[in-house]
Amino acid sequence: MKIFISIDMEGISGLVDGTQTGGDSGEYNYYRKIMAGDLNAAIEAALASGAKEIVVSDAHGGMKNLQPEDVNEAAYLIRGSPKPDSMMEGISEGFDAALYVGYHAMAGAEKAILSHTISGSVIDAIYINGRETGEFGLNAALAGWHNVPSIFVSGDEAVALEAKSFVPDVSTAVVKWAVGRVSAKCLHPKKARQVISEGVKEALTKVNKIEPYWVNEPVEVKVTWRVPTMADIVSVLPYMERVDGRSTKAIFEDYPTALRGLRASITLAGTTVR
Ligand SMILES: [Zn+2]
Repeated sequence: MKIFISIDMEGISGLVDGTQTGGDSGEYNYYRKIMAGDLNAAIEAALASGAKEIVVSDAHGGMKNLQPEDVNEAAYLIRGSPKPDSMMEGISEGFDAALYVGYHAMAGAEKAILSHTISGSVIDAIYINGRETGEFGLNAALAGWHNVPSIFVSGDEAVALEAKSFVPDVSTAVVKWAVGRVSAKCLHPKKARQVISEGVKEALTKVNKIEPYWVNEPVEVKVTWRVPTMADIVSVLPYMERVDGRSTKAIFEDYPTALRGLRASITLAGTTVR
């Protein structure tokens, strides 16, 4: 059994705000260790369930959050950025399942730790074929395109509910309950690791029963940007159509191309002066 794990940081146990997800602070360095703890709980549960190969894609910020020696030696670690498939770099048809650790809810979600979609500074909302979609759905659809089912997610309660709205049978490990966007009631990391382990084991018992999440093609990608300047600049892309002051859309023949076209526009939008 081959397992792919995409690991973000906002949904890691105990973590509640942006001082803990980057920079050169002691807080960040502390939570990198907690991140590895959540990850290793998932890796060890997968190994106990019969996984023979595990590939981990560090998916937060500059994608070098995990320190190599902190990660269980059974897993390969993909790190660094940019990469063509970004948070899902390494996914391919050969995997039996995709797992998501430390994920967070989409931009604008209520009671959701550090909710955003890809880039909080440029994006208000992303719609795939008309459906508002956050990072879980965007990434599960890429796994699905490769015929890989998305079977497990850990993070706060909000991302667990969001994931179930895309993949009803996904197993979830809730490690914290947000009070606001930067405050939460949290499990002790040790308890969180237990919950993650149990969730992964449960997920792997039904791995063949969960359908890969599939987005119909051609794919329409609509984005509502934070300010009209961003819609102005991304409209120079040959595939982009202006919808209104803050929104653009584009049609792509297949999903992987849609995701790359989306990422190119986000990078371009990030260069604008507000
Ligand atoms: Zn992140």
